[in-house]
Amino acid sequence: MVAETDVVVIGGGMAGVTAAHHLVAYREVVVLEREDQLAQHTTGRSAAVYLENYGGLLNRALTIASRPFLDDPGDLADAPLLEACGALDVVPEESVAEATALAAEGTRLVPSIRLVDQAEALALHPAVRPEHVAAAIWEPEASAMDVMALHQAFVRGAHAGGAAFHRGAEAVQLEPTDDGWLVTTPNATWHAAAVVNAAGAWGDVVAERAGVRPVGLVPMRRTAFTCAAPPEAAGWPLLHANYAPGPCYLKPETGDQLLGSLADETPSDPVDARPEELDIAIAIDRLTTLTNLEIRHVRTSWAGLRTFAPDRDPVIGWDDELPGFCWMVGQGGTGIQTAVAAGATVAGIVTGSGVPQEVQDLGATEAAFSPLRLRT
Ligand SMILES: Cc1cc2nc3c(=O)[nH]c(=O)nc-3n(C[C@H](O)[C@H](O)[C@H](O)COP(=O)(O)OP(=O)(O)OC[C@H]3O[C@@H](n4cnc5c(N)ncnc54)[C@H](O)[C@@H]3O)c2cc1C
Repeated sequence: MVAETDVVVIGGGMAGVTAAHHLVAYREVVVLEREDQLAQHTTGRSAAVYLENYGGLLNRALTIASRPFLDDPGDLADAPLLEACGALDVVPEESVAEATALAAEGTRLVPSIRLVDQAEALALHPAVRPEHVAAAIWEPEASAMDVMALHQAFVRGAHAGGAAFHRGAEAVQLEPTDDGWLVTTPNATWHAAAVVNAAGAWGDVVAERAGVRPVGLVPMRRTAFTCAAPPEAAGWPLLHANYAPGPCYLKPETGDQLLGSLADETPSDPVDARPEELDIAIAIDRLTTLTNLEIRHVRTSWAGLRTFAPDRDPVIGWDDELPGFCWMVGQGGTGIQTAVAAGATVAGIVTGSGVPQEVQDLGATEAAFSPLRLRT
């Protein structure tokens, strides 16, 4: 038997649930998630950081436009989804000129960021060894995010609007029809006018199953771990380094814990990513070189796939080759902080109202989001 709906969303990570939440006011929606639980892949493995001064223009626009909801999610969450911590991006002497230019450029969209000198950087993060910081870019409004509460808010909103969620429901076959798509899982088939491909690292796999040309997504593994924090870490900001002793970051978590990463980007097949011991060892080496921390014991470690389009911008929009196939992929390292506005954007594109005005006002256009930019 074939069930009817308006839109089938493939993927129950952050991209899929925000798409569903923003679409339910206008369309009947079915969400298909292959795993038995939602958010099992990249969404459940992030560092949970909100940074406005990060990534290209599209990511910055979506991040900034997402902020009002994150500050006040109304009755979809019990508390604000952001908690300010600030972020300090330290730079060595030889890179100060480059950082000065980056900070100046960054203030166009994020006026609160500024370059601080060594003394102020060390006051903001006393654990950093002075030899590794000549200056730093300071983003005072950077925040920690409650990722699961945000995901749950979208699920709650989508449910309230009538969306149906099917877990353990892999879209194994996608077949174009005269007026839409037939999407088949091992247990059921849906007919819908449109499909939203929010399958994360599997975005190109889903496209191939639909007979749609892939856009060239590259999943990149990133590894993270947690360890005990010294008592004074409670007031520390997020610490990030891009230069010597090598890329790494350190985030104070709630309680007595720190989250560390070597900010790795290792190309991968779309798989259930696992952490490599060597990557954790490198991360610890860099962080203990950059700071005076001692890290003797790793509490937990994990890895997830940050999936990028070739130009590292998000891909949101209709495919040009087969009607009714809408892409929502390539969220890379910002799929949580951009999720609110990305969901509104995909809903605007699917319903024909286009990219929301608040996103356009920040310089992001439908053409810039479109997969057509990647077709040669
Ligand atoms: C270590 C790490 C740190 C990060 N830190 C941050 C951060 O601080 N801030 C931030 O904004 N972002 C961060 N990110 C990135 C962020 O987590 C991702 O951009 C985001 O989670 C992507 O969400 P998604 O829904 O696209 O992918 P996923 O969460 O992977 O969801 C895709 C879903 O599609 C399902 N699926 C695939 N194929 C099918 C199919 N055929 N049928 C049905 N279902 C299917 C999968 O099972 C999966 O559940 C980080 C990522 C990592 C790994």
